[in-house]
Amino acid sequence: MERFEKAERLRRLPPYLFKEIDRKKAEVRARGVDIIDLGVGDPDLPTPGHIVEAMKKAVEDPSNHRYPSYSGMEGFREAVADWYQERFNVTAEPLKEVLSLIGSKEGIAHFPLAFVNPGDTVLVPSPAYPVYNIGTLFAGGRSFFMPLLAENGFLPDLEAIPHDVASSARAIFINYPNNPTAATAEPEFFERVVAFAKKHGIIVCHDAAYSEMTFDGFRPSSFLEVKGAMEVGVEFHSLSKTYNMTGWRIGFAVGNASAIEGLGAVKSNIDSGVFQAVQMAGIEALRGDQGCVAEMCAIYQRRRDVMTEGLISAGFKLEKPKATFYLWVKVPAGYTSAGITARLLEEAGLVVTPGNGFGEPGEGYFRMALTQKEDRLKEAIKRLKALSL
Ligand SMILES: *Cc1c(COP(=O)(O)O)cnc(C)c1O
Repeated sequence: MERFEKAERLRRLPPYLFKEIDRKKAEVRARGVDIIDLGVGDPDLPTPGHIVEAMKKAVEDPSNHRYPSYSGMEGFREAVADWYQERFNVTAEPLKEVLSLIGSKEGIAHFPLAFVNPGDTVLVPSPAYPVYNIGTLFAGGRSFFMPLLAENGFLPDLEAIPHDVASSARAIFINYPNNPTAATAEPEFFERVVAFAKKHGIIVCHDAAYSEMTFDGFRPSSFLEVKGAMEVGVEFHSLSKTYNMTGWRIGFAVGNASAIEGLGAVKSNIDSGVFQAVQMAGIEALRGDQGCVAEMCAIYQRRRDVMTEGLISAGFKLEKPKATFYLWVKVPAGYTSAGITARLLEEAGLVVTPGNGFGEPGEGYFRMALTQKEDRLKEAIKRLKALSL
């Protein structure tokens, strides 16, 4: 074998479908085009000041310079439990049912290492955040993809999963409010997932990263609000989107004590927890004034309105989302996801993400992230209208 030949687990990764866009983006930028990047889901807004101040203070304290505890500071886990009680009326035992994470991506990626044996099946939505599939693959598992289709409100059709697949699956990943489709789920869907998981002995992993990024007064439920959910699953959460803290790397998992214990056991052998100063900032975020969250939602809601109306008047078709900072837009007749993405970049300097990059059933859509200021979105609309599609 060649010295640096990659391990199977890297060679088995799905092809990186954004490579072509990355290359084109560099090429268009080199031509001097003013690019408007609506590609990545990274907030352009800063972390609220009171959270930054808490971090500054915590950084000065030498007791925070040492190794943190593996499963997270008690104070952070208590703040998470209190936040769950307040926000969802869900009671979680801070030391047994809460775990701090180095961002929720880290927890999601490591979760299968705790519960999936080589060859085991995991039910994974498609299109989706890529980490559910990749975490499964790294654990040697196999993903069974559940297509998220417009006719089902972008919810997986649990009835369509063959019985032998469901009964042998170890876990199911779900994510609402959803990236990339911006779809939301009602508690009734979570009830069906709990019943399905009970029937087949499956662990439910719900990624709730966007539960606070919502519009028009919509307040999504936690999966854990549903009766029996604590017996079958965990919910992954993040401070990244709620408090514009993507760079800080802090998230958490809440749920079944055995699930939390298993994930904690994997993590204690791989990482050494979250920098305590960051956890102190996290406590401030969760316990502090939540006005900053309302302000953030108001900004994204205005952007959503501007962009949705602009897209519709430029002839595109989409639903106005109730949550997330994404728009999931149908590609115009005669185009593929890759085709429209290339044309928007080359002729309008607009970066969007082709839907099929999130999984084959995403073909026929592109995703726009509302991570630019309103005047830039208006400029994007002007350019869209100037294209004759
Ligand atoms: C942004 C995002 C996350 C959050 O990731 P962090 O690691 O907490 O920054 C999780 N899930 C989805 C679907 C996301 O889009």
